[in-house]
Amino acid sequence: MTTNDDWRTLPTGYFTHELALAPNPLDGAPEAAARIDAIESRMLVGGLDERVDRRLCGPAERTTVELAHDPEYLDRLERASAGDPEALARFSMPDMRVGADTYRAAMCSAGAVVEAVDALLERTVRNVFCAVRPPGHHAGRARASGFCFVNNVAVGALYALRRRRLERVAVIDFDVHHGDGTEEIVAENPSVRFFSLFQWPLFPDRRIVPTPSNVVATPLAAGADGTTLREIVEGLWLPKLEAFRPQMIFLSSGFDAHTEETMAQLKFSEVDYAYLTRRLVDASEALCDGRLVSVLEGGYSLRSLARSVLVHLQMLGRNRT
Ligand SMILES: [Zn+2]
Repeated sequence: MTTNDDWRTLPTGYFTHELALAPNPLDGAPEAAARIDAIESRMLVGGLDERVDRRLCGPAERTTVELAHDPEYLDRLERASAGDPEALARFSMPDMRVGADTYRAAMCSAGAVVEAVDALLERTVRNVFCAVRPPGHHAGRARASGFCFVNNVAVGALYALRRRRLERVAVIDFDVHHGDGTEEIVAENPSVRFFSLFQWPLFPDRRIVPTPSNVVATPLAAGADGTTLREIVEGLWLPKLEAFRPQMIFLSSGFDAHTEETMAQLKFSEVDYAYLTRRLVDASEALCDGRLVSVLEGGYSLRSLARSVLVHLQMLGRNRT
């Protein structure tokens, strides 16, 4: 724990990895390198690249990733990436393709989140945005789904608890799709509170019923907008966060609830993402010395993704003294 407010003077971390710009092996997939490229171009234009602490992260250690995943599943993913036909046949879902870089890229995405936890506990940054792909929140303990292979946010949360000895962490998922993999991995873990909003019904149409006791799930009908978001944040998330007293807050930051996204039908805007980020940064600063790790999930309309991440980063670095 810090004894003063010096951390407020530190820059926001922008953690990424060398394969975040590698092509998706599935031609034409919306989960593409152009997403990171659009974010970084917008940061350059907005002058944000000079204000963040940019780090290129390496892969997470295998034993760390095994905190969230079945070792046999990780073996299979590694063999599939190496071209093993039997392992490749197990990754035959229509929205996924495993290429030569997939295993390493997924391990590097998780590695960025683990490095973010360390950087916050060693207090070398104020908070962190992990610009990673593949994303992670649909990946379950032993399954890949929806462009996700390793559940980056779950690996980070479990690493913070088991290896860095925190006692309580919160995970907040505002991607338009339900973070079903995260819910599966953290279900009934009393050290984790998982808050999630999502359009329903919509991919992946998979929920644990009844909802696990540590999960605060808010399914939303198509058309829900920023007014609904504010009701959830003020009426549900902030009071429950305050009661839980997390020592670190993780965000599964998907920006595909934006009104310009064609993949779903929620109506959020940049103003809403700025509001949401500001409230969560304020909560992290009041509850846990600002220890907040934001991890990129979805967001496929390149223009709205880039603008939304820009306001997200601006709010992460707000009032830096
Ligand atoms: Zn999504």
